[in-house]
Amino acid sequence: MTDTRIAIVTGASRGIGRAIALRLARDGRHVVCVARSQGPLDELVAEITSAGGRATAKPCDLADAGAVAAMVESVASELGRIDILVNNAGITRDNLILRMSDDEWDDVVNTNLKAVFVACRAAARPMMKGKFGRIVNIASTSGLVGNAGQANYAAAKSGLTGLTKTIARELGGKGITANVIAPGFVQTDMTKDLPQQVIDGVKAMMAVRQLGTPEDIAAAVAYATSDEAGFLTGQTIAVDGGMTMC
Ligand code: NAP
Repeated sequence: MTDTRIAIVTGASRGIGRAIALRLARDGRHVVCVARSQGPLDELVAEITSAGGRATAKPCDLADAGAVAAMVESVASELGRIDILVNNAGITRDNLILRMSDDEWDDVVNTNLKAVFVACRAAARPMMKGKFGRIVNIASTSGLVGNAGQANYAAAKSGLTGLTKTIARELGGKGITANVIAPGFVQTDMTKDLPQQVIDGVKAMMAVRQLGTPEDIAAAVAYATSDEAGFLTGQTIAVDGGMTMC
């Protein structure tokens, strides 16, 4: 392996995705940073390049399936290859099932599941051409064990498991691996408004008794996307401080 690996990271503007982008860049990857907001992506690219790394900003609304496919195809044509795809972007629209609207369901399923399918489908051909691929889809412990108020989110995240295992089976013979990383509670914008009582309850359920950091998740992604992880595929790895252990 002589060329720099090209890695797409979605949801890179903040939180876990930003940490993944910084970590992969530090590991020598050229990181294509994807999210809706251009400003934070430009800042991230500047931070990576000023540290001697390589990165490109690609603003894209992943809720638009056509835009997702076009974004992936543009990376392949502009940078010549796609080696790594980390589908990290995700949203929540929480509500109890009795009150959940069709729009709340559709918004979450479109961004958290359909966009991942479209991105994987678009990346598969360039990865096959390069005889190498590492796909990591970021799910959640909510998708493993369910979570009251998150029928849409848990269904989408759980759906990533079936999607990822199927990709692993279909493309494993082409040098492409696909895995799910399922974070537990991690300190980001997504969890910052949780009441202290909820945080305390969550900590009590965790073997390590503390929330994770974005860097904890990035470290797992760094391994699963490395050249040496070629024998790891079709797996769901819960990085959750020992909350689920399932
Ligand atoms: P976050 O801080 O809310 O960041 C979400 C990221 O996704 C942002 O970069 C956001 O960028 C991007 N995004 C959202 N909708 C998008 C869209 N339509 N198009 C493009 N980008 C979009 O979330 P996080 O906590 O880092 O979570 C990252 C992933 O980990 C998510 O998949 C989440 O479900 C999962 N997760 C998080 C936790 C946790 O405790 N934090 C636990 C389990 C799983 P823009 O707003 O700029 O578009």
